[in-house]
Amino acid sequence: MAQTLEQIQSFKGKYPKQIWGLFFSEMWERFCFYGMRGMLTYFMITELLMKEDIAQLQYGATQAFVYAFTFVGGLFADKILGFRKSLFWGGLMMIVGSAILALDPHENFFLGIAFTIIGTGFFKPNISAMVGKLYRPNDSRTDAGFSLFYAGINMGALLGGYLCIAIGKGELFSQFIPEALRWNVSFGLAAIVMIISLINFHFIQKSLGTIGLQPGHPDSEDQERKIPKWQEYAVYIGTLILIPIIMIMVSKTQYTDLFMYIIGPVTLLYLFYEMSKVTAAERKKLWAALIFIVFSILFWGIYEQSGGSLSIFAAKNLNNDLLGLDPNGVNNSGGAFYIILLAPLVGLLWIWLSKRRLEPNTIVKFGLGFLFLGLGFYALYATRFFADLQGVTSLNIFAIALLVITFGELCLSPIGLSIMTKLSTKNLQGMMMGLWFLASAYGQYVAGIIGSKMAQAKEGGTNYEALITYTEGYKQLGIYALVAGVILILISPFIKKLMQEVR
Ligand code: GLN
Repeated sequence: MAQTLEQIQSFKGKYPKQIWGLFFSEMWERFCFYGMRGMLTYFMITELLMKEDIAQLQYGATQAFVYAFTFVGGLFADKILGFRKSLFWGGLMMIVGSAILALDPHENFFLGIAFTIIGTGFFKPNISAMVGKLYRPNDSRTDAGFSLFYAGINMGALLGGYLCIAIGKGELFSQFIPEALRWNVSFGLAAIVMIISLINFHFIQKSLGTIGLQPGHPDSEDQERKIPKWQEYAVYIGTLILIPIIMIMVSKTQYTDLFMYIIGPVTLLYLFYEMSKVTAAERKKLWAALIFIVFSILFWGIYEQSGGSLSIFAAKNLNNDLLGLDPNGVNNSGGAFYIILLAPLVGLLWIWLSKRRLEPNTIVKFGLGFLFLGLGFYALYATRFFADLQGVTSLNIFAIALLVITFGELCLSPIGLSIMTKLSTKNLQGMMMGLWFLASAYGQYVAGIIGSKMAQAKEGGTNYEALITYTEGYKQLGIYALVAGVILILISPFIKKLMQEVR
């Protein structure tokens, strides 16, 4: 007999033991995802010979689509598949996508990417929702659990983000891999780690008791809904039908704008429909979740400058006064490095504070997230005071700014995952987690727009002028973040009312 939810959730100690299994599956999935994401722009420019601006746009489109499909993945997990089947289906799609790319990355590029996009949509929200299920709704250890899980995410991001591109470019293992096969191997590596993720999940399933089982499964705690087999097959077939559509939408970026204009309002309408079916108390909680989601768009819009304008800033305006490290390398992986070091500590800090009844509630943590983000962007602005006349400034100061920003991320991102699981009703867990990530899609989208505005403003100027334009932009963003932080803290009594007993 499978362990009941009640038994799992009454664990002793700081973390439930099942969290480690989920940690590793997610770590390998993020390795696959960030490994691939890290190769995209470079591969499009150097191998597919696309123009830089087109490659950037298409990269942005893939990111927007990846996170947009988490809503679809979450929704079908709630309604039909359950978390586990969704996770396997998504993982399988990611393996197929990476394998197709490994076979012939030049020929199969968009096909492979399309599989990966939809696969991530089915995997990502649902593994996060399962972490939430390990805790009772008001367990004060939940945020710490998500912080630990977040360290796993970033371990995968750091390893995959570094290894895949380094192998593709021939900077690593080039003596063992023939030059013509380097990209095949790096995409193949993404496929292999994804297989490891699923094998790991297969073995830990037993320890998950009833968590994530399809509704109506003989062991499931939800026996009221029996899902007819045809509905399950319809999801699988529907996913496959979406592949060519996604391929077209990613390869022609004018569709991305259209898609972004449509998907947000449609999902909101759908959410309102679902909200009309729940009790008044549950509805209030969903409203609170929606407020967190909307604020997170602004957070990611600012934060995600890292992939766009900050990578250009790092390449042109930063020296290597930090241990001789490459500024772009620091920009790409510094955040993940800090998180691996800090996330478990911050998690333990939340538990320590909660024992002394001093733990800030979620709204205040969110507010703090914005304040740190604002201060971090202000520190990015301050790099201009350390610049030489060529507009080259200190990587050390940049690294400090990144640290402050990362503190902000730790107050918001894992906490956001945690609060989604606490505020969602039982049957909307996957969908709400998907909505949380959909906000990231909009964040990425907004980030791209802000980045390209800054790029236009500095066009034609000297390197020093570019530094001034970028840092001015970062100051503005810093101010927006600080204002958002203050607003959140000011409206906290109102949000608290909506959240009721949830902390
Ligand atoms: N870096 C985190 C992850 O990969 C958060 C992503 C996001 O929500 N934008 O899970």
